Amino acid sequence: MQIRAAVLEEFGKPLAVQDVELAGPRSGEALVKLHACGVCHTDLYTASGADPSGYVPCVLGHEGAGVVEAVGDGVSSLAVGDHVVTLFSPFCGECVNCASGKTNVCVAIREQQNRGYLPDGSTRLSRGGEELRHFMGCSTFAEATVMPEIALAKVSPEASLEACALFACGLSTGLGAAMYRAAVEPGSTCVVFGAGMVGLGAVAGCRLQGADRIICVDLSAERLELAARNGATDTWTATEGVVERIVEETGGYGADYTFEATGLVSVMRQAVESARMGWGLCTIAGVAGKGETLDIVPRFLMQGRRVQGASFGGVRSREQVPLLVERYLAGDIDVDSFISHRLTLDEVNRGFELMHDQDGIRSVLVF
Ligand SMILES: [Zn+2]
Ligand SMILES: [Zn+2]
Repeated sequence: MQIRAAVLEEFGKPLAVQDVELAGPRSGEALVKLHACGVCHTDLYTASGADPSGYVPCVLGHEGAGVVEAVGDGVSSLAVGDHVVTLFSPFCGECVNCASGKTNVCVAIREQQNRGYLPDGSTRLSRGGEELRHFMGCSTFAEATVMPEIALAKVSPEASLEACALFACGLSTGLGAAMYRAAVEPGSTCVVFGAGMVGLGAVAGCRLQGADRIICVDLSAERLELAARNGATDTWTATEGVVERIVEETGGYGADYTFEATGLVSVMRQAVESARMGWGLCTIAGVAGKGETLDIVPRFLMQGRRVQGASFGGVRSREQVPLLVERYLAGDIDVDSFISHRLTLDEVNRGFELMHDQDGIRSVLVF
């Protein structure tokens, strides 16, 4: 079938929205008609050429939500008409990692996905006979996509697909970091560094876990206001000495849980150092630039602080994204407060500009 899609032709150049060919689903795959897709930093980062593992030409986008239109042979958990969220972080339930029960990082299709191919090593996207690769296994800056069954989460049809798109990446990453990876205990004190999509998700996650005090630190007054609306009890403008202030306000010990959601290694260090001595747990959810390293003074670990990372917030995507969407439907997560702009597919480059200017939390393309 012919679809409209935003193609990254060359690094550092605007995306080119055009007609491309999308082949039908093969064994274990489903065709999804997309209704909405969030515009994320990872798309922008890849488009800029800063990511050495990027590839062109490809169709960008990975925060999609839509409706299943067709399924290939052997697909048993999805049917035509199902509402789904696209997952750059699949969950097969059977590979060595999934079976361990210890991680959400599925390795079943990792190799091909990293190279821009579907699990059988081919693409469903093409243009005049030339293959177009699939970005993050998703390619959702498009009217439709074909993805593996294990990379689609079936969600309640009652949830708006625009809201569902946010659960495909940053929002679930933040929520999951607090709810699943750190598993914040009720009554605890939490600090969230960064009030972008991931940080706001972490603030909401800490609230849902029953945290007593949630301090959110950011540079933007507007974002801090959103943090307050989503459960932050304290909003602080990021300044020098923030670690000392946290230690001081927590009886001289530090916070039970800290979350880093800026991707800056200097802030990661602050998140480590403001975790409580004895048991403080620092969860790194932001993505640092390639090759950057995090400095930690070993004494901080010696005194009992712990540091962990989380990919997709530790969320077991296929199982837990539907549960997070249920929390949204129950009124527990104010997703609408995060959608700052609604754009058409043709305005996708405008979405990048808005992000570059730090205008709003999330732009959503609506097809
Ligand atoms: Zn993303
Ligand atoms: Zn797996």
